[in-house]
Amino acid sequence: MNAPDHSTDVVVIGGGPAGLAAAVMLARSLRSVLVVDAGEPRNATAAGAHNLLGREGVPPLDLLTAGRAEAEGYGARILPGRAVSARHVDGGIEVGLADGATVRARRMLLATGLVDELPDLPGLRPLWGRSVLHCPFCHGWEVRGRRIGVLGTIPQNLHQVLLFRRLSENVTLFLHTMPEPDDEAWEQLAALGVRVVRGTVRELRAEGDALRSVVLEDGHVFDQDALVVAPRFVARGELYEQLGGELTRQPTGVFVPAGPGGRTDVPGVWVAGNSADLTATVAVSAAAGTSTGAAIHGDLMMEDVAAAVQARRAPFSAAAEARQTQRLLGDRRHGLDSVVPSR
Ligand SMILES: Cc1cc2nc3c(=O)[nH]c(=O)nc-3n(C[C@H](O)[C@H](O)[C@H](O)COP(=O)(O)OP(=O)(O)OC[C@H]3O[C@@H](n4cnc5c(N)ncnc54)[C@H](O)[C@@H]3O)c2cc1C
Repeated sequence: MNAPDHSTDVVVIGGGPAGLAAAVMLARSLRSVLVVDAGEPRNATAAGAHNLLGREGVPPLDLLTAGRAEAEGYGARILPGRAVSARHVDGGIEVGLADGATVRARRMLLATGLVDELPDLPGLRPLWGRSVLHCPFCHGWEVRGRRIGVLGTIPQNLHQVLLFRRLSENVTLFLHTMPEPDDEAWEQLAALGVRVVRGTVRELRAEGDALRSVVLEDGHVFDQDALVVAPRFVARGELYEQLGGELTRQPTGVFVPAGPGGRTDVPGVWVAGNSADLTATVAVSAAAGTSTGAAIHGDLMMEDVAAAVQARRAPFSAAAEARQTQRLLGDRRHGLDSVVPSR
C-alpha cells in the first residue's frame, strides 16, 4: 500500500456548516482533522442566512469564512478540493481527491450536503435562491406581502401554498404538472383566496435576478415577484455508496440513513447535515456537525483506550508466556511430556 499524502484521525468531506462545526468540536478535543471542501455550499446564491441566532442574515459565504478560521484556530486543516473516491483500508478509510492526492483517516465524516434538483424550466435556474424560492423560513419574510406564485409539480406544493399564504394575501398556484388537488385541497385554496391557474408554464421572465413574470404555454403572462418551487433533494452520497453503503430513496429525495449521533451502517463512516437530514437548516446542520463530532471523538477514544489496555497487558502476557514455556521445558526434562499446560 502506497503512503498517503495526508494522514489524520478524521477526514471531513465538506466544509459547510455541518462539516466545519464537526471540525471545531474534534479539533477542540485535540483530534487531528482534515476538512476537504469543494467550496459549493447549498445556499451560496442566497443573500443572507436566516433563522440563525446571533448571526441573523449573515451572507452564507461570510459565515463559512468565519467557521473555517475558527476550525483552523484549533488546529484543523482545510484542504480545498473534491473527494472523488473512498475505500476501506487497514485501520480506516482512504479517500482519493480529484487532484490525485490521498487522505488516510481512522474515521470519515460525510458532510457533503445535497443537490437541489430544480424543475426544468427556461429562465428558472438563474433566479434560484433570489426570486425562485423553496423555503418559507429561509426567505419567505423577504417576499412577505408580494405577488408569490407556486409552481405545481408534486402534491407537496399544496403545503408550500399554505405556508406562503401566511406571508402574503397574493398567492397564485400554477397547477403546471402537479396532480389535480383533491376536494379538501380545493376547499382550502378557496377559503384562503388562493388563485389557481390551469395550464403548463413555458418560461420565466426576469430582470437581473428579479422575477418579473410567469408565462404559460398558451401565451398568458402573470406578473409575479417570486416563484416557489419544490426541488428534489438529493444527498451527495457517491462516496457512501463506494464504501458499500445504501442510500435511502424517496419520491421527494435521497439521503444517507444514520442512527443517533450520525453513525451510519458503514464501519468508520459518519454523516451530518443535509446529506442525512434533507430539511436541516444552517443551525440544525451545524448542531448535527457538533454532536457528530463529539460522537466520533467518543468512538476514537474508546478505540484508543482499548489499545492502551491491550498495550498494558502485553508485557504481562509475554511474561506469562515465558513462564509457561519454562515450565514445559522443565516438564520435558522430567519426562512429563503429556502434561497439558493450564492457562
Ligand atoms: C437558496 C437557499 C437558501 C437557504 N437559506 C437558508 C437560510 O436562510 N437559513 C437556513 O438556516 N438555511 C438555509 N438554507 C439551507 C442551508 O443551505 C442548508 O441547511 C445548509 O447549507 C446545510 O449545510 P451542510 O453543511 O449540510 O451542506 P452545505 O452547506 O451544502 O455544504 C456542503 C459542502 O460540501 C462540499 N462538498 C460536497 N461534495 C464534496 C466532495 N465530494 N468533496 C469535497 N467537498 C464536497 C460542498 O462543496 C459544500 O461546500 C438555504 C438553502 C437554499 C438552497
